[in-house]
Amino acid sequence: MKTTQSIRRCFIKALAASPVLALAGWPASGIAADAALQARKITDKLTLISGAGGNVVLFKGSDGLTLVDSGMQTSSAELLALIDELTNKSSISRVFNTHWHEDHTGGNEVLHARGARILAHENTRLWLGAEFDVYWRNQSHQPRPREAMPELTWYTSGSLDAGGELLQYSHYPQAHTDGDITVFFPNDNVLVAGGLLANKRYPVCDIATGGWIGGLLKANEAMLAQINDSTVLIPDSGAPQTKADLQAQYDMLNDLYTQMKALTQQGFNGKDMLNDRLTAKYDAVFGDPEEFVLETYRGMWAHTYDMGGFI
Ligand SMILES: [Zn+2]
Repeated sequence: MKTTQSIRRCFIKALAASPVLALAGWPASGIAADAALQARKITDKLTLISGAGGNVVLFKGSDGLTLVDSGMQTSSAELLALIDELTNKSSISRVFNTHWHEDHTGGNEVLHARGARILAHENTRLWLGAEFDVYWRNQSHQPRPREAMPELTWYTSGSLDAGGELLQYSHYPQAHTDGDITVFFPNDNVLVAGGLLANKRYPVCDIATGGWIGGLLKANEAMLAQINDSTVLIPDSGAPQTKADLQAQYDMLNDLYTQMKALTQQGFNGKDMLNDRLTAKYDAVFGDPEEFVLETYRGMWAHTYDMGGFI
């Protein structure tokens, strides 16, 4: 079995050998800005805009528009034009960022220029302003300009008055990243899940910025307790989902985490698990498991203490 030290040396070697590329689209596999944005009415006040990378949710409140996430930078002009068309150029009061990834924050600058205040967990603000490598994607992140930065941040969960409606934001530490929030619209029974619910694919835990499978499981468990069978869930991208979809993701993660923990204790690594087709019964629903298995395995090594120091 490899020691933690030898694993660490492997990481350092891999890092030194890899060219560091500019962060061009996140996530790099599978999700990119589509040619056309698609607007879908969820309730009288809520509209889902898909196709800009990550989902963007538009809420028409009595004090102006509230958005959850801002899509890819490359879609930002098109996104703003569509919002103006849908709302007859209403003022944009605020934008929640569910986490720092570029497919959810790329439009921050153009929305800020229209007067929007950007809101996020403090860790999201810190990542957006930092220079760092996302080594497992062979990408690097450059600090975003001041105009893209959240102006109001929190460390905990809370609520926010959006023109008389109390929106609830909940922070889940170390899940998809270390700054994830969900945003719940109680009057409409709509939960925007950000990176915590993937759409018919294996979810990503970004271990470079604090994500790991144990935190994602805890987040999904808490989200399941918050919602009911009528709740509309907005996943990280694509069409709305239901509580049953979130339950299916949770059950899959829970089963694979249990198996992967046991296999890791026996000395198997992520590649062994892929070769043994550990995920076979889930692949028809969740797709290609390679990145999920390899990154989950790496993330477990970073969280041995949380798992009882078993390795
Ligand atoms: Zn993400």
